[in-house]
Amino acid sequence: MTQSTPANLDAFWMPFTANRQFKAQPRMLVSAQGMYYQSDDGRSIIDGTAGLWCTNAGHGRTEITQAVSKQIQELDFAPTFQMGHPLAFELANRLIKHTPEGINKVFFTNSGSESVDTALKIALAYHKARGESSRTRLIGREKGYHGTGFGGISVGGLGNNRKGFGPLLSGVDHLKHAWTPGTEFTKGLPKEGAHLADELESMVALHGAETIAAVIVEPIAGSGGVWMPPQGYLKRLCEITKKYGILLILDEVITGYGRIGDAFAATHFNVTPDIITTAKGLTNGAVPMGAVFISDNIHQAFMSGPEEVIELFHGYTYSGHPVSAAAAIAALDTYEQEGLFNKAKQLGGYFEEQLHNLREFDVVKDIRNYGLVGAIEFKSTDKFGERGYKVFEHCFWHGNALVRCTADTIALSPPLILEKEHINELMNALHCAIRSLN
Ligand code: PMP
Repeated sequence: MTQSTPANLDAFWMPFTANRQFKAQPRMLVSAQGMYYQSDDGRSIIDGTAGLWCTNAGHGRTEITQAVSKQIQELDFAPTFQMGHPLAFELANRLIKHTPEGINKVFFTNSGSESVDTALKIALAYHKARGESSRTRLIGREKGYHGTGFGGISVGGLGNNRKGFGPLLSGVDHLKHAWTPGTEFTKGLPKEGAHLADELESMVALHGAETIAAVIVEPIAGSGGVWMPPQGYLKRLCEITKKYGILLILDEVITGYGRIGDAFAATHFNVTPDIITTAKGLTNGAVPMGAVFISDNIHQAFMSGPEEVIELFHGYTYSGHPVSAAAAIAALDTYEQEGLFNKAKQLGGYFEEQLHNLREFDVVKDIRNYGLVGAIEFKSTDKFGERGYKVFEHCFWHGNALVRCTADTIALSPPLILEKEHINELMNALHCAIRSLN
């Protein structure tokens, strides 16, 4: 079913969008099924990005639709402040079956940004609860993206997301991002670069471990340009944090729920952080929800006061919303029944091969991939981001494909239900689009 474009696009101030440019030639999606969107001009557009890294089980899943509609009729809303409803508990119990050992507590949010701010607050409050109130410093990483809350942009490492918004949180430092020149066109994880984690040792020397609360990184940095962790980097970072009593927060908002071949990057890379932040794929993108996974250790530190006292003064009206919880349980059923967390392992090799064929073009500066995540970076022209945007537009209008551009990098993160022919279709669109640049 298609609808026509609304006559007036003025009122909606679109997020992270060049509004005037968009509204001059709007790209409108009106329905979706499986691997495809439908545009308002009646075209089928292959989804190369799972929406925004969300719809891992593909679009229009009837299991989720039915669970949501049943839940709205049965219990549309119930508070989780001093009240409970069964689904939030059921979902938490289901989710911790997939988390690393020792991480068995779940705090629900509505988005990745809220998950990040929740994680940072829990980290600070944890140290305070243990009598280490001097641990207030937070450490992020250059090019890191952790959503748009004030906590998230403070630890985030993207200038444009920070510059316009005042002094941000104080006492924040940033590690160098984990990419080394000379690793261009690596298939999978770069061999070089684990030593970059040692910079945390320098920060400890500079600030004192007793001032550092937590380090937050994305296992694969997405929005900052899609950067893979060098082999051994995350393990090394984890070891250093443990050595100094610093908490490690892995922001798995994009890697969570199967993107690289396991439920979480933490288990995939055999790294046990203290906190994991997620959202997006939790409900297959169908309704907003986020989940923060917290170690039993951290949780325990909050449980020693009098029973009648609230342990953590934090939460959201919609934490564990029944409709979102129903969607997440249905999404989890689908992921588990269809073995989708494993899909990146099955198709990752083919995806990698096809992606790296794009190297034939002279304008391509680098290609990066892992699991079902891919990136093509172009040599920049005088106008930064021009090539990325042109390829994105060409794919949409002429290749009938949705890809994502962040500056001069095209990011790919297709739904995990895809098959080889979908990969071919995406690559054809990209070939044509890149050829049009020359
Ligand atoms: N963290 C990471 C790693 C993300 O990729 C994103 C969103 N792309 C967020 C946090 C923020 O999520 P949201 O947009 O749902 O607030």
